[in-house]
Formats: sequence, C-alpha cells, structure tokens
Amino acid sequence: MKIERKQRVVLVPYPFQGHLTPMLQLGSILHSQGFSVIVIHTEYNTPNYSNHPQFVFHSMDDGLQGIDLSFPSLENMYDLNENCKAPLRNYLVSMMEEEGDQLACIVYDNVMFFVDDVATQLKLPSIVLRTFSAAYLHSMITIFQQPEKYLPFEDSQLLDPLPELHPLRFKDVPFPTIKNTVSEPILDFCRAMSDIGSSVATIWNTMQDLESSMLLRLQEHYKVPFFPIGPLHKMAPLASSTSILEEDNSCIEWLDRQAPNSVLYVSLGSLVRIDDKELIETAWGLANSDQPFLWVIRPGSVSGFQCAEALPDGFEKMVGERGRIVKWAPQKQVLAHPAIAGFFTHCGWNSTVESICEQVPMICRPFLGDQPVNARYLSQIYKVGFELEAIERTVIEKTIRKLMLSEEGKDVKKRVVDMKQNIVAAMQIDGTSHKNLKDLVDFISALPSRLPPATPVVGAIMSSNHTPSKCIIESRS
Ligand code: UDP
Repeated sequence: MKIERKQRVVLVPYPFQGHLTPMLQLGSILHSQGFSVIVIHTEYNTPNYSNHPQFVFHSMDDGLQGIDLSFPSLENMYDLNENCKAPLRNYLVSMMEEEGDQLACIVYDNVMFFVDDVATQLKLPSIVLRTFSAAYLHSMITIFQQPEKYLPFEDSQLLDPLPELHPLRFKDVPFPTIKNTVSEPILDFCRAMSDIGSSVATIWNTMQDLESSMLLRLQEHYKVPFFPIGPLHKMAPLASSTSILEEDNSCIEWLDRQAPNSVLYVSLGSLVRIDDKELIETAWGLANSDQPFLWVIRPGSVSGFQCAEALPDGFEKMVGERGRIVKWAPQKQVLAHPAIAGFFTHCGWNSTVESICEQVPMICRPFLGDQPVNARYLSQIYKVGFELEAIERTVIEKTIRKLMLSEEGKDVKKRVVDMKQNIVAAMQIDGTSHKNLKDLVDFISALPSRLPPATPVVGAIMSSNHTPSKCIIESRS
C-alpha cells in the first residue's frame, strides 16, 4: 500500500542525458515511496513534462540561452552553477513561505554543486546523487590527494599501472588531459564536484554488491550515509522515456527481423564526438566483420559533419539489410531485445549498467572522464567486455568477431549473465539495493525540515549485512 508522507523532495538534475535520466528515475522511485517530487530544472534541455505527469516541474533561468552546450566547457559548467543560484533560492523561499515546512530535502546532481550553498543558507537538508561508479570517484580522490605522484606523466608511461589504482593505467587517468597532464582548473572543478559540502547523505546509481570495497573506502572519506540503490532504471517503477532526443523506434522492427543473439549495437552515448577518420574506420570494421549491426550516429557527433554524411560512399548500400543506422535509439529497449549479442560502447556509466542488466557483453571504446575507468573494470575486473586496442578497421573487425563468434566471447557472455543475476538478486526483497532504498526512505522521512547548525543526524550507513548499521553524522558545522 502506498503511504502518503506529505513530504516533498526537490530534485535538481544536471541537464545532460546521462545525468537527467538517473535523476528522473530516482524521482519515480521516491514518488512510488509516497514522496511528492518537484523537479527544478534548467531551461536548457527541459525534460518532457508529459512523460512524467506525477512530478511538479519548475524551470530556472540558467542564463545560457544562445550558447552551444552540446559539449559543455568548464566555463559553461561554472556559469550554470552560478546562474542558477538565485532562481533556486527564490523558488525555495517562496515555496516555504506559501506551503510551510513540507520540504524533506533537496537531492542534487553532484555537478550542480551550487545547490549545497543554497541549501546551507536556507538550512535545508541536501543529498548528493552520484550518477557514476564508486570506482571512478575513488580514482579521482586518490589522485587529488597526491597529484604530484601521478601528474604529469611521460608518453612512455601510458601503459604503466597507476600506483594504488589497479587496474588503471596512466592512459586511464579519470580527467581530460592535455600533454599528459591535467590543468589546475579541471582539477578544481572535479574537486568541487566530488566535495559534498554539508550534504547529509549520498545516493548512488550503483550496486553495493558490485562495488562494496570502493564504497566502504569512500565512506571512510565522506563520513555520511551512503545509499547505493542501483540500477535506478530497474528500481524505478515507471518506464517512461527520459530521452532528450527523439527515439527512432523503427529500429525495433528491424531488430525483430534479425536472428536471436546476432546483432552488435553501436552507440557512443549523448556527448562523445569522434572525427571522420574514426567514423570511417568504424564503418569498415563493422562492414568487414560480416555481423549485423545497429549503429547510432547522433547528429553533431562527427566533428565537422551534420550526421552520417561522412560515411564512406555507398556504405549503407553495401551493407544493405545487415546494417541499420539511426540518429538516436530507444537504448534500453534495444539492449533488452533478444537479437542483441553485443554492445560497442563508450562505457558511460548508464550504458554500462544498462548493458549488464540485459546481460549484453561489451566492446569498450572509452573517451574521457569516467569512461576509461569503467572500461578497465569491465575488461579487467568483471571481464564482461573486450577493450578496443586501436581505432583501426582490422582491429575493430577482429574485436567484433572475438566478441560475437569466439570461445573467449562465450566466456565473456557467461560472466555478464552471472553479473546480471547478482543485480537481480540485489533488487529482490532482502537484496542490498532493495534494503538500501528502504533505509533511504526512512532516512529522508526522519530528516528535520530545517537543520539548525551542527545538528547531529542519525542515519544508517549502507544497510548491508557487513557494514555498521548506525552512525552519527555532524550535518552542519
Ligand atoms: N541513449 C539512448 N539512445 C541512444 C544512445 C544513448 O537512449 O541512442 C541513452 C542511454 O540509454 C543512456 C544515456 O543515453 O541512458 C547515455 O548515458 P551514458 O552515461 O551511457 O553516457 P553519456 O551520454 O553521459 O556520455
């Protein structure tokens, strides 16, 4: 039975697909637990209200009209954090004046770190949502603590292991690099994003059983309760679309015509841009592999081109019915389709989790940020994917065949099936994600609606069997 808690939760997403999606999924989960959900979003990439009639939406003036945010710069991200401060504050103040202390807490994406300042000023409890893996945050923090140990590095070190960060190598450092180093402004931004300020807890789109040691290490660092309740897309009761771009559903009919377990799905997510050389090498690798493929080529994703016109002349005609190219796919539905045998991915965290949940093994072609970290864990620790060793047509062809046709490929498939089973178990009653969600609901319900300075908040650390069950956190100092 649904319990009406009469408590509001305000969600502040970061307006890019890989962040908006998990925040809206979290909203669906909290709504199903009896909270009313208010989504305060930027004007840029406004969510489709009609897909989420259960939420109240409010738009903030982000001050970035007319700016191309398709690949946001550091300056854009700081501007977003600065420009949204006053609109969020004003909205919250008027909401509290009109409706009293019904607000349970504000949950914000860690890239929208300004929210912590606003919440602190208004003495409102805030909770951070981490939309990526614990392994990624752990690698960032380890490098922040001793940057000189890691940066800069030499070309000759690219394949050497990063000290204390197995299985990562220097080429996998989880920051954008220029000339084998990371600029101070980038490090500062990542520090701001990883800092939780005075937030009282952290919600994770990950699974405790998958990342328990990393989560425990991070918990020692942050000293607030952690609630790993992933996979959010499976924990959310409603499967309403969170897509910003229009999904081309015709590819599902095409998949229906393919043999079971025969198609490679190729997508590099919502932000990655490649050059035309990589597009051409990928195209020939796919063509020469002789395997059916469904390829997402997002408008603007090939530098200097609108869409797929950089493909080799006659490519689509040559591959005929064996290949299908779309601008944007209903990815979760695609991965769940019985025809899908593998996923050629950039290893964004959502794509990674979605693929594991549908027991689809991967070919990892990471670019930056958390992607190289995810790719290393997928290929070296979980062993459910192969890393692409070079962006060359022959290597691409060989790797596709290895995944789809070889004995090694069968082993990778078996492991991803096991991983999926573990995730299914985590979502059952008594599974870790299920229990952590219950604890999260209790935690939010017990939060005082206003936090006086230095009020101790009692909360569960992760509700696992093997972690301490209670702790006192100093929520404000
Ligand atoms: N996605 C989609 N259709 C596509 C490509 C991607 O719906 O054609 C979705 C995908 O399911 C995932 C999100 O976009 O939820 C991408 O997030 P991810 O973290 O994988 O990568 P990012 O886009 O943030 O780099």
